[in-house]
Amino acid sequence: MSTDAVRGPAAITEPARATPVRGEFDVVVVGGGPAGIMAASAAARRGLSVILLERYGFLGGAGTAGGLSTFCGLHARVHGEDRRVIHGLAGELLDRLAKLDGLSEPHLTINDKILAQAFDISAYKIAADELVTGSGARLLFHALAVGLAMAGDRVIDAVLVESKSGRAAIRGRVFVDATGDGDVSAWAGVPFEKAAGLLYPSLMFRINGVDAAATGDKPWRTVERLMDEAERAGTHTFPRKKPIVRPQRNPLEWRANLTQLSNPDGSAVDGTDVGQLTHGELQGRQQALDAFTFIRDHTPGFGGSYIVDLAPQIGIRETRRIIGEYRLTEDDVLGCADFPDTIGVNGWPVEAHVAGTVEFRFARGENPRGFCQLPLRMTLPGTIDNLYVTGRCASMTHGAQSAARVTGPCFAMGEAAGTAAGLALADAVPCGAVDVTALQEILERNGCYLGREA
Ligand SMILES: Cc1cc2nc3c(=O)[nH]c(=O)nc-3n(C[C@H](O)[C@H](O)[C@H](O)COP(=O)(O)OP(=O)(O)OC[C@H]3O[C@@H](n4cnc5c(N)ncnc54)[C@H](O)[C@@H]3O)c2cc1C
Repeated sequence: MSTDAVRGPAAITEPARATPVRGEFDVVVVGGGPAGIMAASAAARRGLSVILLERYGFLGGAGTAGGLSTFCGLHARVHGEDRRVIHGLAGELLDRLAKLDGLSEPHLTINDKILAQAFDISAYKIAADELVTGSGARLLFHALAVGLAMAGDRVIDAVLVESKSGRAAIRGRVFVDATGDGDVSAWAGVPFEKAAGLLYPSLMFRINGVDAAATGDKPWRTVERLMDEAERAGTHTFPRKKPIVRPQRNPLEWRANLTQLSNPDGSAVDGTDVGQLTHGELQGRQQALDAFTFIRDHTPGFGGSYIVDLAPQIGIRETRRIIGEYRLTEDDVLGCADFPDTIGVNGWPVEAHVAGTVEFRFARGENPRGFCQLPLRMTLPGTIDNLYVTGRCASMTHGAQSAARVTGPCFAMGEAAGTAAGLALADAVPCGAVDVTALQEILERNGCYLGREA
């Protein structure tokens, strides 16, 4: 961690203390993003006592706290046909969103090569609450996990949390690291990698008050064209090419994904460094204001618009990725790989947020199947017996994570981990020794698509 100037001793020794145990659960899920939501719900539906710990006061992870408002990776282009490939509990979440009037029809994106689906952020928070609590899992909001108590080299005993109620321990039999940053894994000593060239974060924002009738045909292409023209004319420079500025379900409101957050030396802001996070928040708000001012002043229909929301925090795409039993590779993604221990699929292309732009790489070949399977082994740390690691910090290379970090595959990994936790406990085996065939049968019975028959 970078530090400020220090006078006096460089460290303070805190007195030892007894930390109260707040509760004991079969499964403790840390992090309430897409992976954690599904892990907690799936485990609770296996009849287990489950608690989901989340540092904020709402669920959704980057989808809500990072202000995304679009699900990617729910669909794949399978031999030329756009198909939904993420089902199971994700299907229930989408149904709940639709009932709340908070889900748009899927739309083509990235030069019309794949489908994504926009949602309303407030509705997502409510739908996720309903899914998790309706499944029987407990929630503890405003609880920041800060460390672990181990019960041996390979077994976690409890997660330590800090909150307004003070410090507490939450004991569990199986743990799910769904923190996105691999916090639990790092504390447990699981090997991880953090790329020298991390994907750049962005601060997302939404614009309201757009005169939809004045924005013209395919208006989501207008802002990119205007920004390109301004850069070529030398009147403006923008931190990132390939802006995504699109209408929400009510075209009065638009979402904007076009900032790129870097340190003074040009490197990507690291979401595990509090100093860099602070710098990124300030830079993100300034970039958002600059971009919005350009859009408002140059884009037809935006003259009376305003920023209605800056996301609660900058969106972090990549930090730690564990080095687990199998590392999903970019070659697996582009080559549409299969695995005997498949637990779901990824149909999203490699989306690399590199300096100044975004690079996309789709599955290779003429008319490809368009998705790879995701192996259970990418959630297994190998060094800890009672831990699954799901979501964007699962075991993937930098290239693979640039694809399988999006919401759809994180939903799939989370549901598989929660379901597997039930099997591990029922059979009294380590997380890595669950009966994979039984797990796959349960997932498929619950509507999940494992990519086995396409
Ligand atoms: C700017 C940006 C734009 C993106 N755009 C899209 C998009 O349009 N569509 C899409 O599908 N994906 C998009 N993504 C990818 C997105 O990150 C993933 O889809 C997804 O949110 C990752 O899910 P996750 O559950 O692994 O982690 P996260 O979503 O990061 O969730 C982790 C959760 O854990 C909590 N947490 C973390 N540490 C702790 C702790 N120590 N104690 C307690 N709680 C903790 C966090 O508060 C958070 O709620 C985007 C990402 C970014 C950053």
